[in-house]
Amino acid sequence: MYCIKCGVELADSEKRCPLCFTRVYHPDLEMPDGDPLFPDNPVIKRHTVTRAGSLFILTSLFLIALVMPLICNLSITGEVTWGGISASAIVLAYIIVVLPFWFKRPNPVVFVPVDHAAAALFLLHIDLFTDGNWFLSFALPTVGASCIISTAVIALCRYVRKGYLYIFGGATILSGMAIVLTEFLLNFTFDIHSRLVWSIYPCAAFLLIGLMLIIIAINPALRTTLEKKFFV
Ligand SMILES: [Zn+2]
Repeated sequence: MYCIKCGVELADSEKRCPLCFTRVYHPDLEMPDGDPLFPDNPVIKRHTVTRAGSLFILTSLFLIALVMPLICNLSITGEVTWGGISASAIVLAYIIVVLPFWFKRPNPVVFVPVDHAAAALFLLHIDLFTDGNWFLSFALPTVGASCIISTAVIALCRYVRKGYLYIFGGATILSGMAIVLTEFLLNFTFDIHSRLVWSIYPCAAFLLIGLMLIIIAINPALRTTLEKKFFV
């Protein structure tokens, strides 16, 4: 056995090198009892922020953001006008971003429709505030279509857990149709064009991609080839 530092030959019984006083270590020899090479460091306890604590901080921040514009609005104009829209936007952001964290296991199948409902109410508020008259004929059906498609995709992915290609293929085709519906409602509500102008192009692309996904899903041989080619 040799010293790991200076290389002098050592007896097996030696605990320190007689030349450089380095402790002798050999992995196959039993270590004699004694002090460890490094003293124990005092354990540094990590201070973890609890869920309730962070929710409290976030909620307080949102409350401040909610109240400040209202106060500004009131002090400037003497009544709540644009401050109400700002408050609605903060409430919407809170529902989408923070509300799910109030639950231990937030279920997206529940929260996606809740978020859509909140978005619809926010749009209704703007519609009423601006006297736009576009909520029922444009905003509600558009948000509704988005809600139905996204909730269906999330619910199927969560509870069926297979056939993802069919799910995403179908959702892509439905999204393409939703784009056409959006243009139709825009034209109908705001009197822009008398016929469909732009939505057919993204719709065609969406239909092609959706059909391709479904064809891949139907054809296992093609799927295997693609998986090998693209390592998916
Ligand atoms: Zn030595």
